[in-house]
Amino acid sequence: MGVTQTILLPSGSEVSRASTGFGRMNGLGGARVSGNESVKQFAAAHSGEYLYGANEVTDLPEARATIEKYLKLGAVIIGEQKFKVECDSPESQLLYALAADYQVPILLHFQHEAYNLGFDRFHKMLAKFPKTTFIGHAQTWWANIDRHHVDQKVLYPTGSVTPGGLTDRYLSDYPNIFADMSAGSGLQALTRDEDHARGFLERHQDRILYGSDCADAAGRGNACQGAQTIAAIRRLSGSKSIERKILHDNSKKLFRL
Ligand SMILES: [Zn+2]
Repeated sequence: MGVTQTILLPSGSEVSRASTGFGRMNGLGGARVSGNESVKQFAAAHSGEYLYGANEVTDLPEARATIEKYLKLGAVIIGEQKFKVECDSPESQLLYALAADYQVPILLHFQHEAYNLGFDRFHKMLAKFPKTTFIGHAQTWWANIDRHHVDQKVLYPTGSVTPGGLTDRYLSDYPNIFADMSAGSGLQALTRDEDHARGFLERHQDRILYGSDCADAAGRGNACQGAQTIAAIRRLSGSKSIERKILHDNSKKLFRL
């Protein structure tokens, strides 16, 4: 795929409580992702090629301390936060403050009725935590590029996009929010209306980050979603400089690589 450095995102602890669907959503939404220690060890064994994040189930009483422990050990991001909590819950806000203290971004998975609920209120967090760098991704994040996205139950909308959706406005109005292109939702946001996508990449060229969110064992072709996303970014970027920012420069700056 041409990727030279990868940031691994661990899951939180395996616990049974409402925020993890009573255990069904352990391993990041049931994706069997492993925890902090595993990514720390993998990164140590492949130094230079892999960095890692720190994570914990948002509303565990020890979440802040667990994440802080791994930030002190060298984690470069908090996340991804993929737990059933309100995006402005007191426990979430503790982690937003922690991200500012350690000058690392915090990555939120927005999915209607599933994770980081209350996306329409998220602007309050962007305003309340100006020193925190947020990164948004997933279905509800990407569905809301369209100002005519009304039915939030539709997680993978198709067809033409009218600028001015919540996500478009958050990126325009607040300097402390970035967008991560990963997964089918990110890829579909680009391909569903390519004319719109060209303008979106142009408008937010300093705030978009490439992410894969697939195993990428194939590394190319239709079996590899991450490779398709790279191809879409290359095809839809209006200039080499925009392409380079999204695939490299923005992350280099944000993570001080
Ligand atoms: Zn996610």
